[in-house]
Amino acid sequence: MQRILRTSAFAPERRVDAQQYQERLQLCSTCPKLSDGVTCTACGCIIPVVAWLKERACPLPGGGRWGKLIGQAPGGSVATVAE
Ligand code: SF4
Repeated sequence: MQRILRTSAFAPERRVDAQQYQERLQLCSTCPKLSDGVTCTACGCIIPVVAWLKERACPLPGGGRWGKLIGQAPGGSVATVAE
């Protein structure tokens, strides 16, 4: 995985910050679509990899579970919901 994260597709400007990454992992960890703790069966993606990317979203309807991280701007910045 570290090799993938060093590619230009995962350049720092394309990534969410570490807190947002952890929040995404946490949301996925309780999702029935997560297989073996790694693969999203809704999109086939490896979550510990794609959760870094600003432009990615949870594929579930209605904005998906990552939709709880509201405020995804076109540039990819994300605001979290204060609960
Ligand atoms: S990306 Fe969405 S559908 Fe896939 S495992 Fe995470 S929360 Fe579930």
